[in-house]
Amino acid sequence: MAGREPILLQWMGVSPMNGDMLERVRQEVETAFTLPTNLVTVDAPLEDSLEPRRGQYSSTKILRWILASIPPGVAKVVGITDVDLFIPVLTFVFGEAQVDGRAAVVSTARLRLTYNEQPASPALVEARLLKECLHELGHTFGLVHCPGRDCLMSRSNSVLEVDQKRVVFCRDCRQRLRALEERNGS
Ligand SMILES: [Zn+2]
Ligand SMILES: [Zn+2]
Repeated sequence: MAGREPILLQWMGVSPMNGDMLERVRQEVETAFTLPTNLVTVDAPLEDSLEPRRGQYSSTKILRWILASIPPGVAKVVGITDVDLFIPVLTFVFGEAQVDGRAAVVSTARLRLTYNEQPASPALVEARLLKECLHELGHTFGLVHCPGRDCLMSRSNSVLEVDQKRVVFCRDCRQRLRALEERNGS
């Protein structure tokens, strides 16, 4: 729709961006939220978020950096990285977002593996990344976790649970999303 601020997907990984995969994810995000969606690469100071004892990166610190560096005129930013993310109480997280906020971060680190730690196929990694981007964006639009196991907003603690979700928000979440959009005057 005209005049609506875009979503920004920003690659902030250690490896070079997989442009083909992220371009397809970008298109799907654009369709899902009917908002213009752009894809960029940024040079983020990931080392500032490294916790040396765990060998992992603090998703909360990365989120804070993303938030502090949102370009003007952008509605939501999803940082996509390949470093392994954690929050102190969990072994790892697939991502983190500000509920009803502007920033989210998603990692491909755990999405690249199957349940028994073998490399997952590129198509599977892409499908998972899309689901996680839509999930974290759902949080930034104000959605909370959903009890529906196949809904995008269900909580995932394993790739198995990510794979069980369909690439759609359930009817309840779609209604909530519409109500939140109206409240926000868009
Ligand atoms: Zn969540
Ligand atoms: Zn739902």
